[in-house]
Amino acid sequence: MTSALAPDSLGPTICVGEILVEIMATSIGDGFREPVELVGPYPSGAPAIFIDQCARIGGSAAMIGAVGSDDFGRLNIERLERDGADVSGIAVDPDYPTGSAFVRYRADGSRDFVYNIAKSAAARFGWTERVAALVHRAGHLHVMGSALSMPGAAEVIEAAAQVVRSRGGTISLDPNLRKELVLDADTERRFANLVDISDLLLPSGDELERAAGVDGVEAALVRMFERGVKEVALKQGRDGATVFTPGAPLIHATAFAVEEVDPTGAGDCFGGAYVACRRLGMPVAEALTYANAAGARNVTRRGPMEGAGTRAELDAFIASTPRVMP
Ligand code: ATP
Ligand code: MG
Repeated sequence: MTSALAPDSLGPTICVGEILVEIMATSIGDGFREPVELVGPYPSGAPAIFIDQCARIGGSAAMIGAVGSDDFGRLNIERLERDGADVSGIAVDPDYPTGSAFVRYRADGSRDFVYNIAKSAAARFGWTERVAALVHRAGHLHVMGSALSMPGAAEVIEAAAQVVRSRGGTISLDPNLRKELVLDADTERRFANLVDISDLLLPSGDELERAAGVDGVEAALVRMFERGVKEVALKQGRDGATVFTPGAPLIHATAFAVEEVDPTGAGDCFGGAYVACRRLGMPVAEALTYANAAGARNVTRRGPMEGAGTRAELDAFIASTPRVMP
């Protein structure tokens, strides 16, 4: 069987979107309307978490986005660089600060956020010469569905998709859109176009059905394979993950039994590891084991990408961590 994704040697995996710092309350409770103890800044932003894990496990990876000319920006660039990602596609905005998210967990596990993204450097980037140079040597584009609602990002993603495909590269999509979310007609159209050109989907929860526009996982899979998707990696939180490919039996991985300290970033680490491993030539089952481990390891650390693992760290984690009992 030919691989669903272009090999790592074709060029880096690129991801386009928000780069943020996350600052979190150390106590569980409601909101920020009184002083609470905070910890951070931690490098964050779903696309950046994805790229960091992709690089850490040994895949070629490059980030496209923007930060401000401030320490929050430098923190992000230094982390991605340290972990082996190409940062040539990150612009430094002279006028706007780096994006941020303040988060506090509530007792039921849900979260309160104060965001500074849309009016920060995180949303202010576009197609520059440096971005074009990077995209023209990229081998794979990973798209976070949530980035499509940022106009600047959506334009870069659409242009990058054309270039990457014309070079023989491939595309993956994490829909990142909950069922209840209603998109404007423009974003909905962009999203549907991306599904049509995606080789790999990485949905969680009901996002697969949402993206397919039909009810039921089976029906949604049939619809996606008809549209040309070659592989679907369904993220199932504490239930692990399952990969579906047309005409082959599904492959399921039971979750690793870990104590969840901070769930943020699990899905992005899962995706970064899965895409990198498939592009490095691993078969589905082996890539899924690493992805499952990357997601689980990341939830054991406070901070959105603090638990992203190298190949050696994930090997050690896999060897020493029991699976959840069925
Ligand atoms: P995110 O909250 O980052 O958007 P997601 O909803 O996209 O996450 P999840 O299914 O929550 O994705 O997590 C991705 C993967 O990480 C899971 O498929 C699983 O392999 C692993 N994982 C997540 N949470 C846990 C957990 N509590 N215990 C073990 N493994 C976990
Ligand atoms: Mg997700």
